[in-house]
Amino acid sequence: MCNKSTKTILLSSFIFLHIFIISCDNDSTQSSNIIPEEIDSSVVKLNGLLTVSGNKIVNKNNKPVSFAGNSFFWSNDNWGGEKFYNASTVKWLKRDWNTKIVRAAMGVEDSGGYLENQQANKLRIRTIVESAIDEGIYVIIDWHSHHAENHIEEAKIFFQEMAQDYGEYENIIYEIYNEPLDVSWSEVVKPYALEVIEVIRSIDPDNLIIVGSPEWSQRIDLAAQDPITTFANIAYTLHFYTVYHQDWLRERATAALDSGIAIFISEWGSIGYSIIDLEVNKWMSWCHLNKVSHVNWSVNDKEEEWSIVVPGASVLGQWQESDLTAAGKLAKNIISNWPD
Ligand code: MG
Repeated sequence: MCNKSTKTILLSSFIFLHIFIISCDNDSTQSSNIIPEEIDSSVVKLNGLLTVSGNKIVNKNNKPVSFAGNSFFWSNDNWGGEKFYNASTVKWLKRDWNTKIVRAAMGVEDSGGYLENQQANKLRIRTIVESAIDEGIYVIIDWHSHHAENHIEEAKIFFQEMAQDYGEYENIIYEIYNEPLDVSWSEVVKPYALEVIEVIRSIDPDNLIIVGSPEWSQRIDLAAQDPITTFANIAYTLHFYTVYHQDWLRERATAALDSGIAIFISEWGSIGYSIIDLEVNKWMSWCHLNKVSHVNWSVNDKEEEWSIVVPGASVLGQWQESDLTAAGKLAKNIISNWPD
């Protein structure tokens, strides 16, 4: 997500949770506070390597799958979100939120990012990746950039290292470009992607790779018109924030699916249980219908509407309900009740 901060007055309501659960899960008796002990203990063991088949992402049994989880905030030094990059938070999200997938968001260009401090940022990413492997959940290694085409050699070196160290694990998903800005898909983003994918595929032949599209990963239509065909297991990133992205983006995404590409929502944000946020149910119904995975932005306590915890909440998980923001409560209910 671009680094915006707006204040929104939030009104709590559980009405939408009930609508969501009824629409997505016949077994609606499960409370978010009651997670069966074994439900999330081996999602990767059960599903194995994720691959693209037609416009779906399927598990090792060729069954289309949709998983729900959490994205960490930018990894940059001193941006505030980096303090949550620890094994304890991953463990808590798995145990208390039933999260099946986490996303480690490597900040690249901006202050305190990878280009300024490779060692610290890479250590944060590795911490989340290795914790997710330990917990048996999926993990996205995200090159969290708006200008990745300007630093392609750095991206190639980074993903080469990630593929060498983690490519053997079924847990791993590579996201090679978070949100391109207003640049050409065919002339800028796709050529960048082909170069980075070639490096990854020379080491890791099989793990899923997801690719962003122009205009903050909303121009999924451009990727659909000119998809990557020289490599297998490629899906395309779609991001939505309910305050900005409504029917028009779902229609665009549906058309992209109809054209045959697979979609992965590596970021979404809501404004919590507000009466004006009916959009989140529409999006979740869309994800459920189309078997699309989705990852919530973000694990942070910054004062913005998308943070899942309030300022000062523990950086090690162990959150009470009172530690969650309105957006955090909504995200927790969606993620912890998401049907496999
Ligand atoms: Mg592999």
